[in-house]
Amino acid sequence: MIPPLLSNYAPAELSFEKGEGAYLMGNDGRRYLDFAAGIAVTSLGHSHPKVVEAITEQASKLFHVSNIFTIPGQKELAAKLVNATFADAVFFCNSGAEANECGLKMIRKYQSENGSPERFRVIAFEGSFHGRTLATIAAAGQDKLLNGFGPVMDGFDQVPVGDIDAVKAAITSETAGVIIEPILGEGGIQVVDPEFLRALRALCDAEGLVLMFDEIQTGMGRTGKLFAYEHLGMSPDIMSSAKALGNGFPVGACLAVEKVAKCMTVGSHGTTYGGNPLAMAVAGAVVDVMTEDGFMDRVGQVAGHLKQSLNGDVDRYPSVLEELRGVGLHLGLKCKVENTKLLKALQANGVLTVAGGDNVVRLLPPLIIEEEQISELISALETACEELAQ
Ligand SMILES: *Cc1c(COP(=O)(O)O)cnc(C)c1O
Repeated sequence: MIPPLLSNYAPAELSFEKGEGAYLMGNDGRRYLDFAAGIAVTSLGHSHPKVVEAITEQASKLFHVSNIFTIPGQKELAAKLVNATFADAVFFCNSGAEANECGLKMIRKYQSENGSPERFRVIAFEGSFHGRTLATIAAAGQDKLLNGFGPVMDGFDQVPVGDIDAVKAAITSETAGVIIEPILGEGGIQVVDPEFLRALRALCDAEGLVLMFDEIQTGMGRTGKLFAYEHLGMSPDIMSSAKALGNGFPVGACLAVEKVAKCMTVGSHGTTYGGNPLAMAVAGAVVDVMTEDGFMDRVGQVAGHLKQSLNGDVDRYPSVLEELRGVGLHLGLKCKVENTKLLKALQANGVLTVAGGDNVVRLLPPLIIEEEQISELISALETACEELAQ
């Protein structure tokens, strides 16, 4: 007999019954400082009053109607996102992978509508993560995602990140676009060189390719800007968002510039749940909080202090920590010891974190984190490092 629950995860025994701001109350009776935030999801912390209010109010009125009817909340949220970003139009869905699927379909549709239906291939990058659908695992191209799932969906070419000549060499008459995470999150908080991203933009313009950013993890304030592209002085043509967009309520979005968005004509794409009134109310509240005056400035300040303290610890414990990576509150500690050992030691000292590729422990606190909680994290990290240095 197998357990009734599919065994595709290997969860820690720990579970939680309540969350409050930056803390989670464990079933073991302990309170944990949450530097995992549901993997960059609960960025406003647990039970944020504005989010609770929005969901409660909307839930008592209307959860769901089909997209065969007008959903005013969609128009409102789309307008807010268009206002706050490079984009001219937004499609709403329920998850990150779906947002990427929409973007990948848009890349193909754009070329098809512009007289080049033979252009369907998308260049992606080694070590990326774009989700778990057949198209998004093919985009990432990693064996550990693809193994056992049959012929890899055609249309993706991976090149090493940071190598503009490799990108140029990979372009053929069939290439339609490029997808990249501005910081490779699951890959271990690998910050992509801004010069490389600007070179990609220029290359896409020169070659008529569509540039898509996967900002599912980097977006919604994580890097100290609403979206990470804002650090670069340029913008993509398509951008996916999810994770923190709903602060834990499942919602995703695919944003695009006009020339791409207008190719998605009536009937070309759709979803049942995507953009339903409940999701729109929650995401609307999240966007409102994050776009309030001073919110991102505060994230930047707190992130600066956190980074300074963490860099101090990297110097102090060279046998445990190799380097600090990341932008804003999208941080990773590359470890000298096994990353899971540091993760467990931190958990034993009351702090939850997330493992990442390249032997990294990701630090993804809620953006509402305060100085006091930074001190708490640092004290737990130092205790953990003392233990592991022995
Ligand atoms: C989490 C993530 C995804 C997938 O999102 P899901 O909601 O799990 O489908 C895609 N891309 C990146 C960069 C992510 O971090």
